[in-house]
Amino acid sequence: MFGRAPKKSDNTRYYETLGVSKGASQDELKKAYRKAAIKNHPDKGGDPEKFKELAQAYEVLSDPEKREIYDQYGEDALKEGMGGGGGSHNPFDIFESFFGGGAFGGGSSRGRRQRQGDDVVHNLKVSLEDLYNGTSKKLSLSKNVLCAKCKGKGSNSGASARCHSCQGTGTKISIRQIGPGMIQQMQQVCSECRGSGEVISEKDKCTHCKGNKVTQEKKVLEVHVEKGMRHGQKITFQGEADEAPDTVTGDIVFVLQLKEHPKFKRKFDDLYVEHTLSLTEALCGFRFTLTHLDGRQLLIKSNPGEVIKPGQYKAINDEGMPHHQKPFMKGQLYIHFNVDFPDSGVLSLDQCRTLEMILPPRQGNRLSGMELDDCEETTLHDVNMEEETRRRQQQKQEAYDEDDEASAAPRVQCAQQ
Ligand SMILES: [Zn+2]
Ligand SMILES: [Zn+2]
Repeated sequence: MFGRAPKKSDNTRYYETLGVSKGASQDELKKAYRKAAIKNHPDKGGDPEKFKELAQAYEVLSDPEKREIYDQYGEDALKEGMGGGGGSHNPFDIFESFFGGGAFGGGSSRGRRQRQGDDVVHNLKVSLEDLYNGTSKKLSLSKNVLCAKCKGKGSNSGASARCHSCQGTGTKISIRQIGPGMIQQMQQVCSECRGSGEVISEKDKCTHCKGNKVTQEKKVLEVHVEKGMRHGQKITFQGEADEAPDTVTGDIVFVLQLKEHPKFKRKFDDLYVEHTLSLTEALCGFRFTLTHLDGRQLLIKSNPGEVIKPGQYKAINDEGMPHHQKPFMKGQLYIHFNVDFPDSGVLSLDQCRTLEMILPPRQGNRLSGMELDDCEETTLHDVNMEEETRRRQQQKQEAYDEDDEASAAPRVQCAQQ
């Protein structure tokens, strides 16, 4: 709903687009549109923008009601009244309604111009094993299909009458003068046909779909998840979404959602795994088995004499993820090592002396008595760093809150904290 006084300008463009005078008759309009629309049809290599403009102009000028509004108040009045463009209809629909189906005979690649149906998107959860090995999943879905009995007509006879109430447009526009130079336009869904633009007599309704034109059907789709596919990758089933009359059926799209793996992490085609060694293993060597994503047991071992440091990475070639569509190519398997040090008090003084004979000497031994005399003695105590950090943050927050309360105080002091 709106009211306004549109400018008296901008009510010639549609006439210019079609190349007719302002006083052109319906017949002249038709002829002009026919000629220009065929010439500019995108199927014949015409400019789609021009084609759209022609349809828009013809749609308005061929409708006496709309033409009158346009002549009086211009394009804007039509646009605002109809919530988005005097030519809110598909230019191909207008073309079709003018020429009837198959305007270019069998030669048109587009055939009958139809609406584009919505795609249906589903998330599909997959495990890392699924992506490593590849898998297929059967999914049962129910969808609308065109009624087989009436072929989507909704009626037994195949006939459907254009709704008289709305002339088949599915909507009704009411115009009202609400003041000098002010009109109000309202667009409503036609109540007779509930927006479909056509009516089927009760007697003629298809018994199978009860005039709905579509029926529900169960359908099983087999989704092939290929080796090396990624989280977020889409698998599309073209034209498998809900069917509707005069509509190009949309696609069903599955979007892969990778479930977190307890052991392996994936980055591109590489795999990462964490492994904790005891200090003895880190220093003296280790051997362990790792179950891969295909169930193989990998034996992983250190080289003789090798020492592993905490946080160190090692890699195994060709044990990462298979590359999608080139599954024989595989990424790396990275192992990130942690070293679990023994707890305090595990080593006796004697044991420490034995270790000192093997391991590098203590650096502190090099301090002379003189140097030690110059030092201040300190005490190390245990801290829980997480706890400590939390406490710090709390203190900061409290200081900030206090500062906030005394907001009259100069804010500069905040910067000191
Ligand atoms: Zn209607
Ligand atoms: Zn039917």
